[in-house]
Amino acid sequence: MTPDRTEKTRSGKTHEPKPFIRSDARGVVVKRTLKIIGIAVLVLAIAGLAFLFRPVSWGGSSEAENEKPVDVVLIGGGIMSVTLATYLQELEPSWNVHLFERMDNVAEESSNGWNNAGTGHSGFAELNYTPQKPDGSIATEKAVDIAESFEVSRQFWAHEVAQGRLPEPSQFINPTPHMSFVWGDENIAYLRKRQEALVRNPLFYGMQFTQDPAQIARWAPLVMQGRDPAQKVAATYMPLGTDVNFGVITRSLTAALKRNPNFHLSLSHEVRGLSQNADKTWNVTVHDLKGKTDRTIKSRFVFIGAGGAALKLLQLSGIPEAKNYAGFPVGGQFLAFETPAVAERHHVKVYGMAETGAPPMSVPHLDARKLDGKSVTLFGPFALQSTKFLKNGSWTDLFNSVYDTNVVPMTKVGIENLDLVKYLAQQATLTDADRQAELVKYFPQAKRGDWKLITAGQRVQIIKRDPKNGAVLQFGTEIVTDKDGTIAALLGASPGASTSPGIMLKVLDKAFPQQADGVWAPKIRAMIPSIGRKLNAQPRLTNQVRRMTSEALHLPYLDVPEDLVPGARPAKAPARPSGRNLNTEEQAL
Ligand SMILES: Cc1cc2nc3c(=O)[nH]c(=O)nc-3n(C[C@H](O)[C@H](O)[C@H](O)COP(=O)(O)OP(=O)(O)OC[C@H]3O[C@@H](n4cnc5c(N)ncnc54)[C@H](O)[C@@H]3O)c2cc1C
Repeated sequence: MTPDRTEKTRSGKTHEPKPFIRSDARGVVVKRTLKIIGIAVLVLAIAGLAFLFRPVSWGGSSEAENEKPVDVVLIGGGIMSVTLATYLQELEPSWNVHLFERMDNVAEESSNGWNNAGTGHSGFAELNYTPQKPDGSIATEKAVDIAESFEVSRQFWAHEVAQGRLPEPSQFINPTPHMSFVWGDENIAYLRKRQEALVRNPLFYGMQFTQDPAQIARWAPLVMQGRDPAQKVAATYMPLGTDVNFGVITRSLTAALKRNPNFHLSLSHEVRGLSQNADKTWNVTVHDLKGKTDRTIKSRFVFIGAGGAALKLLQLSGIPEAKNYAGFPVGGQFLAFETPAVAERHHVKVYGMAETGAPPMSVPHLDARKLDGKSVTLFGPFALQSTKFLKNGSWTDLFNSVYDTNVVPMTKVGIENLDLVKYLAQQATLTDADRQAELVKYFPQAKRGDWKLITAGQRVQIIKRDPKNGAVLQFGTEIVTDKDGTIAALLGASPGASTSPGIMLKVLDKAFPQQADGVWAPKIRAMIPSIGRKLNAQPRLTNQVRRMTSEALHLPYLDVPEDLVPGARPAKAPARPSGRNLNTEEQAL
C-alpha cells in the first residue's frame, strides 16, 4: 500500500509534501557520481599517459624524391642557419644546400631586428655574466668568453663585408657604447669591483667607472635628467660597444647565398618529418604551406636552426640525445620610443641589475637602436608568458614537447625554480602603469604617451638532464648532435645571435671534424684570423684583430697597451677611441 503523504499545515490546510530522496536513494546518486568522476579521472590518466608515452619520432615512411642525397638541409631561416650556410658555401661551393623556412621570408622570428635587443653581446655591460663569488670577488670567466666570441663575430662579419656578402657596415652594426648603471651602496661596491676585475683584461681595456652624476649624465642624459640628486648611483662605460641588426645580417647573407645555384631557398615550407635511413642519411618531409603539398628530400646532413621550435624538431628526429632535453618558452616585450626627441638624446645601451628570480634575459636595459634606417629607443624586456615556441607558433607547442622522458625533469625544475615561476607569474599581471614604474627607474622623465608596447621574439629555455642533479635549467646555448654527426640542433637563447659565427664554427667542428681540422682549416683561418687563439691574454693580438675589424666595420678602436696583463696591475687611463664614433656626449668629453 502506498503511504498517505498528505501533510497538514499549521493553518489546517493540506498540501502535497515536497518529494524527498531517501537516504538509500541518496547513496545511489553519490555512488553513481563518484563512479562517473572515477571513470573520467581514469580516462584522463590513460589519455595523459598515452600522450606522454606517444612515439617521439615521426615514422616518416615517405619515400624521398631524390635517390642521391643532397649535402645539407637547413631547417629555419634565422641568423644561425644562414651563418652556417655561408661558411659551407665558402668552404664547399659545389655542395647542394637546401634551406626551408616556414615564414614568407627569412629573419621573421627572433633574428628580426624588432624581435631582439640588438646588443652585440661582449660582456661589457651585462651584470649577470659577472656574478659576485661567495668570497666577494667577481667571476669574470663568462664575460671574457663572450667577449672572445664576439671578436670572432666581428672577424666573420668583416670578412663577409670584404666578400660583398654583407652591405655597408652602418646598415647592420653601429658603435653604441655599453653602460652598466646601478644604485645603492652594495651595488655600487659590486660595480666598482667588477670594473677593476675586467679592465685589466685586454678585451675590456677602456672601461671606465664613475660615481659622478654629472659624468653619467654626459654619457646617458636620459638616465640622469629628473633623477633624485640624493640617490647614490654609479656607472661603467665601455666605448667599444655595438648595436647590431641581426635581421639585416640574415637577409643580406641569404641574398648572397642565392647567387650560387647550388643553394636552394624554399620559403613558406615547414619541415614536419625527420627520419633516418639505414645508410645514416635523413629523409626530411616538408609541407608547402601555400601549395598544400608534401615532399620528402634525402640529405647527408641536417641542421635544425629552427629557433624556439628546434626542440620539437630534435625530438622528432628520434635521436637518443634528444631525450636529455625539455624546454619552456619565455616571450619578450619592449617599450619602444620612436619619437626623435627621445632617440636623439640616447646613444648608448644602459644595462641594469636583474630583479631577484628574474631570468638573465630579463635584465632591464635602455637601448639606443638603429632600426629601419631610424634611431629608436627600446626599454625592456618584460617577460611574456606564452606556451608558443615561436612568435608565430601554436599555443600547443609546449604541451607537444612534453614526453614521458622529460615530464619529471620539467616538473623538478619548476619546483626548484619557484623564484622564476613567481617572477613569470608576476610579469603576466603587469599593467602599463607597472611598466611605466619600471621604466622611470632608468628614464625618470619618460612620458607614458611616448612609448608603445611591442612584442619581441620568443625564447625557449633549455631544461637539461644532469647526471648529478637530475635536471637543470640552462640559460646558454647548446649544440646537440647525434653520435655520427649527421644531424645537429641549436637549442637555447643566450648570448644568441651576437655569437652566431662562433657557435656555427662549433657546429662545423662537431659535424665535420675531419674537414674542419684538415682541408677547411686554411680557409677558416682566412675568415677568422684569430681562430684557435685567445685574445684576452694577448694585447698585441687583440690590437691586431680589433684594428682590422674596426677598419672593416667602421667601429671605434682603442690601442691596448702591450704590457697589459690580466690581473697584473690596474690599467692606465685609455686614450680616446678613434673611428666612427658615435656618441656625441663621448665626443664632447
Ligand atoms: C626578447 C629577445 C631579445 C634578444 N636580444 C638579443 C640581443 O640583444 N643580442 C643577441 O645577440 N641576441 C638576442 N636575442 C637572441 C637572438 O635573437 C637569437 O639568439 C637568434 O635570433 C636566434 O637565431 P635562430 O636562427 O636560432 O632563430 P630564429 O631567428 O628564431 O630563426 C628560426 C627560424 O626557423 C623557422 N622555423 C621554425 N620551425 C620551422 C619548421 N618546422 N620548418 C621551417 N622553418 C621553421 C622560423 O620561422 C624562424 O624563421 C634576443 C632574443 C629575444 C627573444
